[in-house]
Amino acid sequence: GTRYSDADVTPRRQARDAVGPLDAATPGDAVATGFRNASDTDPAVAANRAWAARVVGPDSGYVPAQSPEVTSTDEVDDVVARAGKAAAAWAQVVPADRARALRAVAARLEEARTALVTAMVHEPGKTVAEADPEVSEAVDFASYYARSAEALDQVPGATFTPDGVTLVTPPWNFPVAIPVGGIVAALAAGSAVVAKPAPATPRCLEVAVDAIHAGLADAVASAPAGSSLTAEAVRDVVQLSRVPDGDLGRHLVTHEGVARVILTGAIETAQMFASWRPDLDVLAETSGKNAIVVTPSADLDLAAADVVRSAFGHAGQKCSAASLVILVGSVGDLRTETGRRFSVQLVDAVRSLAVGPATAVSTTMGPLTEVAEGKLLRALTTLEPGEQWLVAPRRLDAAGRLWTPGLRACVAPGSFFHLTEAFGPVLGIMTAATLDEAIELQNAVSFGLTGGIHSLDDTEVDTWLDRVQVGNAYVNRVITGAIVQRQSFGGWKRSAVGPGAKAGGPNYVAELGTWSDTVAGG
Ligand code: GLU
Repeated sequence: GTRYSDADVTPRRQARDAVGPLDAATPGDAVATGFRNASDTDPAVAANRAWAARVVGPDSGYVPAQSPEVTSTDEVDDVVARAGKAAAAWAQVVPADRARALRAVAARLEEARTALVTAMVHEPGKTVAEADPEVSEAVDFASYYARSAEALDQVPGATFTPDGVTLVTPPWNFPVAIPVGGIVAALAAGSAVVAKPAPATPRCLEVAVDAIHAGLADAVASAPAGSSLTAEAVRDVVQLSRVPDGDLGRHLVTHEGVARVILTGAIETAQMFASWRPDLDVLAETSGKNAIVVTPSADLDLAAADVVRSAFGHAGQKCSAASLVILVGSVGDLRTETGRRFSVQLVDAVRSLAVGPATAVSTTMGPLTEVAEGKLLRALTTLEPGEQWLVAPRRLDAAGRLWTPGLRACVAPGSFFHLTEAFGPVLGIMTAATLDEAIELQNAVSFGLTGGIHSLDDTEVDTWLDRVQVGNAYVNRVITGAIVQRQSFGGWKRSAVGPGAKAGGPNYVAELGTWSDTVAGG
């Protein structure tokens, strides 16, 4: 289909331009755009170990979620009713004032950095190095969508009407950046929000929503007389509601007062929502099964490091994570010096990950948020015919949340691990005789979220960029940690549901409403 406009293709090319020479580290991207989510591993964290130690330690001030869980359909109805009123009031705020409010929100999110990181370390078990750039991403979303709000009334001849009450249902793996992104996008559009935290991470969203409320209050307090930004206009415009999954969750998703759902989660969840309510407007980013291709022309040191970071950051619990590495020609041939060198590097890098609780500053790979079961347990414990472990995963705790990383070799085309998302710390190795064959293996999966190539050959890179079927194509870079504006983030094929606008990109907010021709005169 024509899911992608030219505007959406451009960032793919930019991702390549931004990388430039191999010694230009990704933080340069952030400097170029003014956005801060430079990479998954912000060097500022390493430079500030004292801060990191405080964030994870007993004096971090961490408290569990304070808000009560919703227990009845009446409570759900009340929240949606309040949101309906709030939507009418907020829609009266002009785009320039919405933008001002979002910039104040960005400032408050930045101020809440320590509390947000603490919540992410203690609740889902994210390491500080992963949690810190996630705060930057949340801040970036607020300032970026402020600009999107301003752009809404600059389209000649067209008028934008916001969707109205928007339900934001985030996953637990990015418990701050993803819900904040959805909330501030809906606010930019002029809609009111009901935010339902993932059951595993309510505290992360509480801290974020407190910061959002504080930012809105700041903006109201500093608004000039006569501004459309009033206390009345921001009342209840963002409500956190701890609606549990199950019947109450279904009641909320199917509520007639909810006009739009922004969902990030498994494809099965998107399908379930659609089966409950086929007419629902859903904008969803779903699952992935992502691969990095490494050709013989690659800088193999960089490739090994990027593959391991892409695969095992947050223990592989990212839709964007690398789950496969596809080795082309000699890179995958152990009879060659290149092949031997690359496999030793990969194995060493995987073995050197320090597995432990996120509350230890030395940990480089933290726990699983959910106990391994189903597809993930199979991926961690069971080999398919012909496969072998180069590094075998081991369970370290009785609960089944701490696992050492796994590296499985000889993954066969069409096999379980080639095609199935595992969402955990397992990386599979496939081999291909040629780049063409590698692209075929990469495109054979039903998902199309992220993908990467490591190659220093421009012809190879161009061939791959033209043919790879993913929303985010990265060249000589990790395939996680998309930077707002620079690499707008979203899927292709079964990795997206809805209009396919990419988060942190130019069309996202404009999708959260309807456009009509402006009536002349009046
Ligand atoms: N935006 C994140 C990234 O680029 C991934 C989000 C997800 O896992 O859902 O790594």
